[in-house]
Amino acid sequence: MKAYREKLLQKKHEILEAYQKNKTYGMQADEDGAQDIADKATNSYTKEFLFSLSNTERDMLQQVDEALHRIDDHRFGYCVVCEDEMERKRLEAVPWAQRCVSCQEKQEQGLL
Ligand SMILES: [Zn+2]
Repeated sequence: MKAYREKLLQKKHEILEAYQKNKTYGMQADEDGAQDIADKATNSYTKEFLFSLSNTERDMLQQVDEALHRIDDHRFGYCVVCEDEMERKRLEAVPWAQRCVSCQEKQEQGLL
């Protein structure tokens, strides 16, 4: 459990660091005043990309936080849907996973 917590905290740190970098980079892109149309197009693509990236990171951060709460509540390692114990391999690869593989698949197919 301690190893999972450390992994999660490390992941959280990584996300926050990357998020911080993106935010700084996005602000710099905003401050570029004079630019031709080609530059503008590239820039807005970049900003859009960064925006969606940080959305993903925000979601991830939430999942990591929830996993940390589940460790505190002794619910960590159990699927939030069927409450089965999750595979150790899955938890090691994705310690913030909320669902077991079969529930995850159902979720992705829109069956949940
Ligand atoms: Zn499940």
